[in-house]
Formats: sequence, structure tokens, C-alpha cells
Amino acid sequence: MRHITRRGARVPLLLGALVLSTGQVLPASSPVTIVTESGRREVMPVTTRGDVELLPIDQVIAGLEVTLLSDATGGAATLSYRKREVGLYNKRSLASVQGDLRLLSSPVLLEEGRWLVPVDSIPRLLGPLLDTKVEWRAASRVLLIGNVVIPRVTVSTFVTGDAARVVLEASEKVPFRVEQQEGRVAVSIPRDILDVPFQQQRLAGGIVEAVQFLGGRDNIFAITLGRRFQRMKAVEQEAPFRLVLDFQGPPLPPVAKGPAAVPAPRPTPVPEPPPSVSTVVIDPGHGGEEVGARGPGGTLEKDVTLAIARKLRAQIVGQLGLQVFLTRDGDAEMGLDERTAIANNYKADLFVSIHANASRAKGARGAEVYFLSYQASDEEGRRIAQLEGEAIPSGPAGVGSDLALILWDMAQAEHLEESSSLASRIQEELAVVTGSEGRGVKQAPFRVLVGAGMPAVLVEVAFISNPDEEKFLSSEPYQNKVASALTRGIARFEQGRTARARFSRGAPRGGR
Ligand SMILES: [Zn+2]
Repeated sequence: MRHITRRGARVPLLLGALVLSTGQVLPASSPVTIVTESGRREVMPVTTRGDVELLPIDQVIAGLEVTLLSDATGGAATLSYRKREVGLYNKRSLASVQGDLRLLSSPVLLEEGRWLVPVDSIPRLLGPLLDTKVEWRAASRVLLIGNVVIPRVTVSTFVTGDAARVVLEASEKVPFRVEQQEGRVAVSIPRDILDVPFQQQRLAGGIVEAVQFLGGRDNIFAITLGRRFQRMKAVEQEAPFRLVLDFQGPPLPPVAKGPAAVPAPRPTPVPEPPPSVSTVVIDPGHGGEEVGARGPGGTLEKDVTLAIARKLRAQIVGQLGLQVFLTRDGDAEMGLDERTAIANNYKADLFVSIHANASRAKGARGAEVYFLSYQASDEEGRRIAQLEGEAIPSGPAGVGSDLALILWDMAQAEHLEESSSLASRIQEELAVVTGSEGRGVKQAPFRVLVGAGMPAVLVEVAFISNPDEEKFLSSEPYQNKVASALTRGIARFEQGRTARARFSRGAPRGGR
């Protein structure tokens, strides 16, 4: 659904009905807005004849260097612009455009010396006359003349277990006003004219119930809060211009992960979460002779992962002020254990391994974010884990299986919940950048994640096997976009962790 609203727009339905019954011409209730490359203005009066609205053509062409000349008898008029001409005839539903006759939706009228033209037919006349795009948008009562762009606002929503996110993205800078009210949040965009291809959407999870576009004078979006809603944070961003609304619900109870037959991880005293993140280790996948996947155009995964890792380092250092180390900062081959050993040695708070996906299906596209599990959440996950170095060998997983117990004793086990949370944040941000829901957060037995003694994720940023995504992957702007999505994901994870730490220390929420 697409809506265009404008200040004070009202469709004169009632008046139209009156006209039909009486046959009289009545003034309509609201003006038409004309938007040209040099600005916008309103045209009044608008006259209706039946359900057709007519505009005085002299007002429409004002400022457009078009001349209007009535003939002596008052039966015809000529619009001219740079040797092109349009002929209008009183009480006729025909007009001539450069000598060709064009049918109009209703007759042109000459009333009190003014030439009134059916508004929905104006594009058919002015388009060829001005040799430009002319568009009548009936719902918003806007006549667009020339190469004009109306700000467009799109809406996307994301739901995870304990949070919901609503993103309003605008094609240009618009003012966002956010107001939290009883049971809902109202976002208004006080701009004259807005193109909003969105009506409403219901959300699962009970944190946010629904998002609706109400329109009106200030272009209001209403976000209805659910019973699990606890708090909200609104952040405005640039490039792209957007308003990101994060709604937080209660934390989900921890879920034991792993095969059902394997006993839950040994209960270990849960350490108080560290107050914040200070060191991040980024692992550019593959390197040296081990090139990783190869795109159809010859792009190598090892080069793309290094390029993105370097950009990510610059952004995390510059924007978040954290310490960042790369497992390799050149074209070097290194083992999987070596990579996590580096992270452990640096006492990193987060480990992010960067890869590019490959699939035999040419159309496969999108980002995937993985955290460790003994079992893959699907076959595809296991296949990719095997592709990315080696998967954990799948052994007998019965009760008492040494392999299973050893795995659960591994360093990563106690960080799975935070790894899952980090993976979700990154996935949500990547989804915003790529404009799709993405392929989701998955679990798979990635060997490279096993030894990490900190929250750790593996990001498959896109499919290098897909010719389109291969092109993206080797372009600097796209690499920067991916890096900024990862940076935002890490920033949100850090904020969440800081909040949890404050809460668990018993400090009053929102206190100093
Ligand atoms: Zn890889």
C-alpha cells in the first residue's frame, strides 16, 4: 500500500456526492498542491463537476514560462512553451497537443474569464508541452511537475526474543518527533508532503503489538506497545537518514542448548557480567594458500574478509573507542585454533570471525550470523561449517559420550547465551543494511568458535558465489556498510551488557 499525505488533505467525497445529485458546480474543500523543481504552492479555487475536479490553468502554469492566450471569441485558448502548443476548447473534452487531439476526462470550462481544466487530465497536456514528467497523485492531491522528489519514508520491523525494533528510513533528512504516551509511542514527521508506502503491520512477541501509519497533518506513525514492553530507546542516524526505535522486553529465561540426549552443561557459578566491552578481536577468514571460497568473477574470500575486517577495525576504534586486534593483518595462512588463541591471549571481550558464503545454488543471497552449537540448526549450517575449515567431527552423541562432554566443557560453552545475543544484534543490523530479513541467526559446529573464551560469532556477510553479491563484496562502499552494521551490532550488544551489569549490581534503574 502506498499513501501520500499532505498537510490538511481531505478528499471532498461528500461534496462530490452533492454535485452528482444537484448537477451544480460547488467549490471543493481543499486546495491542490503543485510541486515543481523550484518549490511548492497551493492552487485555489478548485471546482468540481460531477466527480471531476478542475483547476484554473493560469494558476497551474504560473512561474513555468508558459503563456496562455485566449482567442477573441472566447471559444478557445492556446498554451505555448518553446514553440510547442496546446489548444483548449470551451465545453469540449478534447484538447490539441502539438496538433494531435487528446481526450480529457471531462470538458474544459471557461468561467468568469478563467480556463478550468480537469486536474487528472493536466499531465496529458502539460507533460508533452513542457517535455517533462507531470504526475497527478489523487490520494495526496499533489500535482508533480518536472523532476521533483517527495521524501519517502519506509518502515521495517525486527523482532527477537527479548526485543523489537522499528526503523523508519527516509530518502532525505526529515524531522522525526518521538513521543511516548500511555500504551503507545507516536512518531510524527511534520513535513508538508510525504510518500509513505506503508499502512500497518502486526508484530509477534508481545513487546510491540503493531505499527500503523495514521497520516494526518504531521504524518503520524502509531506504535502500540505490548504487555511485555519495558523500555524504549530512540536513536536518529544519518546516511541513511533513519530513526531507530528499540523496544526492550524482559530477558528470556536461559535455554539449555545442545542435543536432548546430552546432559545440560555443568552448572558453573555465573560470573557477574563484565561492565563493558573493551577489546574486540576480529578474525578475517582464511588467508595465504587457503583462499576460502572463490566468486564466479574470481574474487577471493580471503581478500574480501580482510578488507571488511580492516574497515570494521577502523569504525570500532573510531566510533566506539574500543581496542581492536585482527588475527591476521595481511595475507597469512593460519590455523583455526591459532585464531581463537590470539583472542584468548588478548583477553578479548568479543570474537568476530568474518567470512563470505558460497552455495551451489546461484541465487543464494543474504547474510547469516552463526554462533556455536554442537549440532547445526539445519543441514545447510553443517555444510557451511564444513566449508569454513572443519566442522567438529560428529561423533556418537549418547549420554556419557566423551565427545559431547568435552565439547560442553569447552571455553565457548558458558558464553553461548551472550554469543546468541551478539549474533542477533549483528543480524538485525545487517538486515537493515541489506534491506532484507536476511537468512537469520543460526547455530553450527564451527571449529573456529570452539576455543573462544568469550562471546563469539561467525558472520557470513554475503554470498560470494552469487555474481551480484560478489560485486557488492568487492566494492568499498558495500564493505563500509557491512562494517558499520557490525559496528552498530557490537555497540548495541555492549549497551545491553552494560545495562544488565548495572541491573545485577542492584543499582536503581536509570540512577546515577
Ligand atoms: Zn569462509
